[in-house]
Amino acid sequence: MTTVIPVESSLAPCVKALMLRHLRVVPLATAFTLALAGTPAHAGGGLSWQSVLNQAERLATDAALPVAKEKQLGKKLAKEVEKENKLHKSKELQEYVAKVGKKVAAKAKDTPKGISYTFKVIDDDESVNAFALPGGHIYVYTGLLKLASDEAELAGVLGHEVAHVSQRHIAERLMAQVGLEGLIGMATGKNSEGLTALAANLAGQGALLSFGRDQESDADEHGLPYAVAAGYDPMGFVRLFEKLKKGEGPGFLVFLQSHPLPSERIDDAKAQIAKLKDKDGKRNEAAYQKMLEKL
Ligand SMILES: [Zn+2]
Repeated sequence: MTTVIPVESSLAPCVKALMLRHLRVVPLATAFTLALAGTPAHAGGGLSWQSVLNQAERLATDAALPVAKEKQLGKKLAKEVEKENKLHKSKELQEYVAKVGKKVAAKAKDTPKGISYTFKVIDDDESVNAFALPGGHIYVYTGLLKLASDEAELAGVLGHEVAHVSQRHIAERLMAQVGLEGLIGMATGKNSEGLTALAANLAGQGALLSFGRDQESDADEHGLPYAVAAGYDPMGFVRLFEKLKKGEGPGFLVFLQSHPLPSERIDDAKAQIAKLKDKDGKRNEAAYQKMLEKL
């Protein structure tokens, strides 16, 4: 029996305060520097204060958890995940999902240098979910594959997970959850209990971390264009989310806990799609349905 750590409550307030100190100093300093450079005022409305702060926060995360460390940690976590879960045995299915994922990830040009993506299928029909580990290891459960009807729906979810990595949400969330020292310990192998606890969290919840509302919409906002640029029908994301919203049972609950507010996100995605010039991406329904026969 694995121990499940409630993600939000696992963070002691004092640790949180400490982390905030770590995280705030650099962003504020950077924001101040950018402000002195006069960017928001002279950018013709192109650069808002929010985007300056976002950039600053990203710089802080980059400084605290450099890509090399994130990759090291991701590798260790992926090993744990694959020890705890059964990957689907069909090589053909694994290759198919990886091919769709790679096509989408190839459009994530804003991924930090050095990170490359892998996509694997976990054989578990009860879990309707997908998740990303640090360093670009992305997993999708067979429960989610069965819910989707075509490649565009799968691409929509994979785009979202890729965006959690490219926008460094995972690094940010991990920093907030286990703190800088905990993270470094895990990445260097000195904090093996922390690593096991994170992996157990995943086994219990079907998600490594629960992201904040801002990070979820940020991942949607960045992920959808990846899938569209890869040639997929943008409505795939909306169709899948409509199904997830209506879904019942524990498998869906897990998804909704780690991906909150489906209605709002569907509306946001629709608004984003309305602004797209090219809405005629492919769905590859026949190929997808054929792939489902492997499950
Ligand atoms: Zn998400």
